[in-house]
Amino acid sequence: MAEKIYSIKIKEAFSAKKGCPICALRAQLEQDETERILGASMMEPDIRKETNRKGFCKNHLQTLFAAGNKLPLALMLSTHLAEAEERLFKKTAAPFSKNPDPKKLKEAYSTARKSCYLCSRMGEFMNRVLDNLCYLYQTDRDFQKLFEEQEYFCETHSLRLLDASEKYLGKKERAAFSAALAEINRRYIQKLQEDLDWFCKKFDYRYEKEDWKDAKDAPERATRYLS
Ligand SMILES: [Zn+2]
Ligand SMILES: [Zn+2]
Repeated sequence: MAEKIYSIKIKEAFSAKKGCPICALRAQLEQDETERILGASMMEPDIRKETNRKGFCKNHLQTLFAAGNKLPLALMLSTHLAEAEERLFKKTAAPFSKNPDPKKLKEAYSTARKSCYLCSRMGEFMNRVLDNLCYLYQTDRDFQKLFEEQEYFCETHSLRLLDASEKYLGKKERAAFSAALAEINRRYIQKLQEDLDWFCKKFDYRYEKEDWKDAKDAPERATRYLS
């Protein structure tokens, strides 16, 4: 079943026809969610309960810190640390003892390092994006065309798209979907190779005076595609 909000966001990202549309969509959703938890959501008890419990991974802590809104961040981290103290030091030791069980302490740290509120939210969002994207591909001819007009899908998202097509599409549609994705990426990789090749040649004195053509940012584009 299509969820309107995701269909709109997917079509917006695909309409740009520049770069990997799933990367763009993911970045947009991540930015919206970061602003949300540093804004109104920070005081919502249900969300606060989750951020207290899960905390944040290194990357997302940096994202939150870079957003520059330090008061809500400080409030959120303060109650998260109180909960972390309880879990790491009080629950791993017998009552009235300061000495934790080493095995329990290690387990508590290991669980803490694996959980991140924003990573969990992004995981939920991306599942819904991929589900809705397959639904659109199945039911909307215009979207099928838009899908075929993309510049490329990065390696990470190509894999996610192929996984989703296995889950949500019928055999015939899945074959068409895979063929379209492969054709788009084959074209892109060939062009990348040409541009990288020309980029390298430009360092040879014999080509020094020639035009850069599309090669100037070829290493950046190749890195984006592969990462
Ligand atoms: Zn991507
Ligand atoms: Zn994270």
